[in-house]
Amino acid sequence: MQKLISIFFIFLFSYSFSQTKKLLIIGIDGCRADVITKQFAPEMDSIIHLNNTAYSYKMKNERFTMSAANWTSMLTGVHCNKTCARKNNFKHNKIAKYPHFFKYLEQKDSTLQTASFPHWMQINKYIVNGNADYAPYTKEEPSDERVKNKAVEWLQSSNMPDAMFIHFDDVDHNGHAHGFSPKRKEYTDAVSQVDKYVHDIFLKLRERKQKYKEDWLVIISTDHGGRIHHQVGGHAIGIFNKHIRNVFVIMNGDDTKAGEILKPHIVDIACTALKFFDVPVKKEWKLQGKAIGLKK
Ligand SMILES: [Zn+2]
Repeated sequence: MQKLISIFFIFLFSYSFSQTKKLLIIGIDGCRADVITKQFAPEMDSIIHLNNTAYSYKMKNERFTMSAANWTSMLTGVHCNKTCARKNNFKHNKIAKYPHFFKYLEQKDSTLQTASFPHWMQINKYIVNGNADYAPYTKEEPSDERVKNKAVEWLQSSNMPDAMFIHFDDVDHNGHAHGFSPKRKEYTDAVSQVDKYVHDIFLKLRERKQKYKEDWLVIISTDHGGRIHHQVGGHAIGIFNKHIRNVFVIMNGDDTKAGEILKPHIVDIACTALKFFDVPVKKEWKLQGKAIGLKK
């Protein structure tokens, strides 16, 4: 009997350490750190204050403050002087040499399912660049609402992907049209709308956590902020502008080290994702970030 009991506990022990890992990265294009407040983004603000959330309002992004550079750096873990993804047309990029972290996940375990569904479809074309099980590219871009619906659809599926990236773009569009600022209602309204989408996603996520025994990490972040005077380029050439260069990152899940993350950089996200999936980083990949916000 004693033997049976100990076998039972060994099983229980190993089961609790073999939970399926699930990662969801939510990208909100052009979302300034100072609009992630109770007033404009109550859901994200409440997530930040959970006891299983690591966060920063001062993550550094790239000196090239365009979308292409920063989404590439976030998802490859390599700075844009190497990926050469600077302008939004991705001309002369070397992303094939420094691929999306999905590639390394698939290399470690080809059964892992990866999926990317961005409003800005260029992300799938140039940054994912074939390194995902699901990453459609269509000329007609999906709306933010469709992006949210896709995430909800995944969360309700019994065979959902393991690593997922979604991207919202309306906040950036409103910043370019009216100014990126907590003082511009069109801009803060767009942030509040995405916050509602985040709320919908977390609602489904909480339901899912009741149903499946999974180990979750959700990362919410952005590529750049922007300036109030959108006529002078919105967020272009913003190397010395803290509202463009200091971006927010929110990491929620039981593997996180709760509290403020010290000195994160946007290239750290890919390395964090790899560490979450226990993928050892190889030297020859030439990654330049470090894992952040995790317990171990
Ligand atoms: Zn952008």
